[in-house]
Amino acid sequence: MSEKNELAYEPRKAYRMQDAEQAESYCLKYRAFMDDSKTERDAVRNAVRMAEEAGFRPYDGRGNLKPGDRIYRINRAKSLMLAVIGKESPEKGFRIMASHIDSPRLDLKPLPLEENGGFAFLKTHYYGGLKKYHWAAMPLALHGVICKADGTKTDVSLGEDENDPVLYISDLMPHIAKDQMAKKSTDIIPGESLSPIAGLFEDGEGNVKNAVLQILNEKYGMTEKDFLMSELHLVPAQKSREVGLDSSMIAAYGQDDKVCAFAALLALLESGTPEHTSVVFLADKEEIGSEGVTGLRSEAYAGFLRDICDDLHAGDRTSFRASVCISADVGGAYDPHFADAYELQNSCRIGNGITISKYTGSRGKGGCSDATAELMQWTIRMMEQNGVCWQTGEYGKVDQGGAGTVAVDIAKFGIDVVDVGVPLLSMHAPMELAAKCDIFAMYQFSRCFFLS
Ligand code: MN
Ligand code: MN
Repeated sequence: MSEKNELAYEPRKAYRMQDAEQAESYCLKYRAFMDDSKTERDAVRNAVRMAEEAGFRPYDGRGNLKPGDRIYRINRAKSLMLAVIGKESPEKGFRIMASHIDSPRLDLKPLPLEENGGFAFLKTHYYGGLKKYHWAAMPLALHGVICKADGTKTDVSLGEDENDPVLYISDLMPHIAKDQMAKKSTDIIPGESLSPIAGLFEDGEGNVKNAVLQILNEKYGMTEKDFLMSELHLVPAQKSREVGLDSSMIAAYGQDDKVCAFAALLALLESGTPEHTSVVFLADKEEIGSEGVTGLRSEAYAGFLRDICDDLHAGDRTSFRASVCISADVGGAYDPHFADAYELQNSCRIGNGITISKYTGSRGKGGCSDATAELMQWTIRMMEQNGVCWQTGEYGKVDQGGAGTVAVDIAKFGIDVVDVGVPLLSMHAPMELAAKCDIFAMYQFSRCFFLS
């Protein structure tokens, strides 16, 4: 009975990396990107800097493109499209990796500043699917942009430097929390209580709100009205950390989905002139349904592909039909502490390779783009031929809920698409957990996909 059963499929077990040195150096680059790219604007700024260093240039749609050209287009400072023009016509198909660079967080309300009980607070409206109780009693950094009534604009990043102050949402002490602890977890910290304390000291007239306004004016030259023309977000102030006594994992904010975005981006920047035109989408708004001009439902993304087709005298419909897209997004990995939520045989696990999902969706595959058997075959064979460690993964038990990805928005254009990504634990928590070997495998996969 010692012989291996040739007929049964045995999923891969957690593995030690063969290219450990290469993987460790990749993870260092990844962590540096993560620590400086907590919002989509930050990610776009850093990705554009990296792209320009790698010889990419802005593309307005009239480029007289030729093979080997390296181009990018920024969409409203919040999303980014990049391409390397291939040797073949786009009519032979694009190779696209679509990921997202927005993550769950707390957005300041249009008029956030209020005085209550002697404190100045900043009111927020949460963005994306998060557990509200995660966000209290921890250091929060303020990121974003203030557009002012005088026509100027100021970038904000407060709380990342160790000498910066941070913001902080208070929680009730356990000593007197009998009623709170009996509540449903969604009501432990109600949405309207997700307001960090902005200040304590009063101004000369005994007004704490005005005292904060004075500080904001000195620091950013803004008035209260300018909040109405701003985008300000609260994100965890912590930097990424190695996790486990064996340092096998990384905890960081926003790994959903910058762990895939960074892999796709770096693989593209390092690529030579491919056969097929390689494309990376770093999209915004995925966490709230991909709507809006910077979300993947916007015509902006297909428009970028169409401009390339026009420039190269290729038909867009023919090109889309021949294309393959990887919806590069994270997978929800099995957690033995919450085993009841999972169906073990079809769950992915961190440390066992990147996960390929035929479908996502919820309640009867609702809202998913069910990849074809043929595309599953093509992708799995490509991963195996290139030695990429992979596994399959469904989100959880059939009736437990589920998730959607941008795959549906790509499929709308008649482009074949399948979900591949890094398995995560604690998805959408302030610090999400991934295994280094999977983080590196996503980069290896991205490299061979662009060469496919
Ligand atoms: Mn995601
Ligand atoms: Mn997500």
